[in-house]
Amino acid sequence: MTHRFSSAAAGILTLLLLSCSPSQDRAPLNVILLIGDGMGVAQLTAGKTVKGTISMERFPVAGLVTTHAAGSYITDSAASGTALATGHKTDNGVIGMAPDHMVLKNVTEYAEESGCATGLVATSAITHVTPACFAAHVPERHMYAEVAEDLCESGVDVLFGGGYGYFLPSSHPQSLRTDDRNLMKSLAGTHRLIYTPAGLDSLADCERVAGLFYQGHPPAVHERNTTLSALTEAALSVLSRSRRGFFLMVEGSQIDWSGHDNDSQGIIDEFIDFDDAVGTAADWALARGNTLVIVVADHETGGYTLLNGSIEERTVTEVSFSTSYHTGSMVPLFALGPGASRFSGILDNTDIGSRLIELFRGR
Ligand code: MG
Ligand code: ZN
Repeated sequence: MTHRFSSAAAGILTLLLLSCSPSQDRAPLNVILLIGDGMGVAQLTAGKTVKGTISMERFPVAGLVTTHAAGSYITDSAASGTALATGHKTDNGVIGMAPDHMVLKNVTEYAEESGCATGLVATSAITHVTPACFAAHVPERHMYAEVAEDLCESGVDVLFGGGYGYFLPSSHPQSLRTDDRNLMKSLAGTHRLIYTPAGLDSLADCERVAGLFYQGHPPAVHERNTTLSALTEAALSVLSRSRRGFFLMVEGSQIDWSGHDNDSQGIIDEFIDFDDAVGTAADWALARGNTLVIVVADHETGGYTLLNGSIEERTVTEVSFSTSYHTGSMVPLFALGPGASRFSGILDNTDIGSRLIELFRGR
């Protein structure tokens, strides 16, 4: 009788403990990392002013992230992208390597090793700095031809962005390479190639796809032939066929470029395109419950300051910029889904890389 009672009590206690432990503490099957390049708190505020409600408001966990590089108070996207991808600080300009050029293993490589699917999506050339940090190892950020080679050898299953010129041999009129390597041919051997966003609609049964829709960088948001949200949705539909889970990195690349141009409207427009993709990722994750979504930036760009505007009219009317480069301010972070609580509070960009790797190492 006593025994029966105590086992019943233990059962109730277990139930209570289970219901008290937040679902955020379980390990996620899938991880989606969305990076707003150059997205500081002012960029976020301006975007919210104009959009009204932003997708990032749906995230229950928030934090702030320090961004300095190994040898510099102000980071560039290479050093910060390397920190987010590998958990290690490096010098500005260096991709996926330590300051002494020792190769640093990135989260994509850990995921691939564990049999997970992987994807990189960007609104820049896919060989540009931020996506490169998740698949390549080069000592100098402008080595786009070498990044393209690393991308082909990386095993990354989904590649959406621009930059097909870096995959074509120099004999081709649209080539951006100086050698005769035909990486498009190599990619065609491993991936389905799509040439326009129309191809995004016919990816049923497809497990590996590359869609590089521009020779170099895609144009600014209103001239692009598709949205970051549509690319994210297509990437998710392909990657979710992996039973072992996936890692997907999505970059809103051009928030940063508008910051460099001190173009407030451009920042807002690019932010909204990025935030729409955040909403798509959040919808997808919330519908399944097994996916961690993290939104972060690599650094702030422009020293963007909001001086006047109207919540009612949803306008930002007066701004200033303190630089045409990056600043050292902390950047916002949002997390949602299992494991999200590991990303709260004040973190360094290397903490994010380390914690992402922990989720994929030795699965
Ligand atoms: Mg970038
Ligand atoms: Zn920049």
